[in-house]
Amino acid sequence: MKVGIIGGGAAGLAAAHTLAKLGHTAEVFESAPFLGGQASTFDVGGGRLERGYHHLFMSDTHMVDLIHELGLGHKLQWIESKVGLFHGGRIWKFSTPKDLLTFSPLSIQDRIRLGMVTLYLQKTRNGLKFEGETASEWLRKRVGQKAYEVVWQPLLRGKFGEHYEEISMTWLWGKIYLRVASRGKVWEREKLGYPMGSFGEVFDRLGERVEELGSNVNISTMVSSVVVEDGRAKGLVVKTGESKEESRSYDAVVDTTPSYVFTRLVPPLPDSYSRKLTDVTYLSAVLLILELDRPLSPMYWMNIADRELPFVGVIEQTNLVDRSLYGGKHVVYLTNYPSRENPIYRMEPEELAQEYIGHLGKINPEFDPSWIQAYHHHKVDAAQPIIGVNYSKRIPDLRTPIPGLYLANTTQIYPEDRGTNYSVRLGQEVARAVLEDAGIGT
Ligand SMILES: Cc1cc2nc3c(=O)[nH]c(=O)nc-3n(C[C@H](O)[C@H](O)[C@H](O)COP(=O)(O)OP(=O)(O)OC[C@H]3O[C@@H](n4cnc5c(N)ncnc54)[C@H](O)[C@@H]3O)c2cc1C
Repeated sequence: MKVGIIGGGAAGLAAAHTLAKLGHTAEVFESAPFLGGQASTFDVGGGRLERGYHHLFMSDTHMVDLIHELGLGHKLQWIESKVGLFHGGRIWKFSTPKDLLTFSPLSIQDRIRLGMVTLYLQKTRNGLKFEGETASEWLRKRVGQKAYEVVWQPLLRGKFGEHYEEISMTWLWGKIYLRVASRGKVWEREKLGYPMGSFGEVFDRLGERVEELGSNVNISTMVSSVVVEDGRAKGLVVKTGESKEESRSYDAVVDTTPSYVFTRLVPPLPDSYSRKLTDVTYLSAVLLILELDRPLSPMYWMNIADRELPFVGVIEQTNLVDRSLYGGKHVVYLTNYPSRENPIYRMEPEELAQEYIGHLGKINPEFDPSWIQAYHHHKVDAAQPIIGVNYSKRIPDLRTPIPGLYLANTTQIYPEDRGTNYSVRLGQEVARAVLEDAGIGT
């Protein structure tokens, strides 16, 4: 079979890889001048750094297997995570059950209740039973208002910005349930994985492997539409130059772009399907990345439970991996997940830097702006679909109403939190669906 694939991120490349390994031809088109999509990298101190912080959990078996299959297993390291919470003007360690028990801003009863509820969620297998309730309603009832506001609310805000109250309890359950798998035993410390050449290297290697198998991967090539003839997807129109477009014929087409991009590339779809595409709200990620000459904090991951700070997370990459990867620089992400209407999304890099940097002294009283050697600004659109209540009923099928046309994007990942692991799994799944529909066994 010959399959056209839109998008050279985790899902598109994994789909191409699966097809190519089975002797089919895939042609991937990526509009950006690099592969990896949301997990792509840029240069810092001679090393490769993700535009948005990335790590793996031990439960991310599809990514781990892929990294090994690509011959990069020796680069994957598992490192004890250092998680913190910024509350009441200081950093609290939040990595182990013991850290929770010694977290004095909450009463001992609140701490015990919080521990019991977390344990209950870790042991619950069927998280879909929480579908009808928001995480904020469910948690307020179980752990109480104070514990919710101090511990859970910052975590939800850290992921969903101003939409945090809409998030389904099933999503939060998925996050907690799967994270246990990142510890051998409940009392053991969590370990996070990182491929020491970056996620960008993994996806570049995947692209090379797809080509070695006789398929091809095109960067800087935007798809402008899907060709549909006689009610069936027959090919793609791709931009090959400033004003040049070319039609390519395929037996099937797989699209991995966000739902709002997909609707622009295809003819109108039946209401019942297209509503699932237009109903989804995405948040963007806005990242300010600092290169410092010394550490900011002792934590890798820090949720900010203080509304006076204009960012919701501080992720210090060089408290997970060695700074020698970035020419000796200490690397810190300051992060937010705003909607496109939010002023944070619209700010120019200098304006954002000015807004953020004045608050860093709260995190480390010794901080001085002279520590900053350079900073970078990145925006990732469609970084996070909002996962509201009863989300399972709103997921578009991989098989679209147009025969031969398939959709595989992050809105279809549920109840797990979206991530490279699940995009790889989705890419493999969509490739199998294409072959199954063509009557080809996998
Ligand atoms: C800030 C942030 C932090 C994250 N942290 C983690 C983490 O710690 N661990 C983890 O595993 N995951 C993490 N993720 C999530 C992970 O990066 C994504 O879930 C995954 O990479 C999505 O892959 P994808 O292929 O589904 O989509 P994408 O990566 O979005 O790929 C879609 C591709 O389609 C391309 N495209 C769009 N329109 C067109 C067109 N018309 N023609 C051609 N190409 C087009 C885009 O350029 C893009 O490359 C994070 C994401 C963000 C934003």
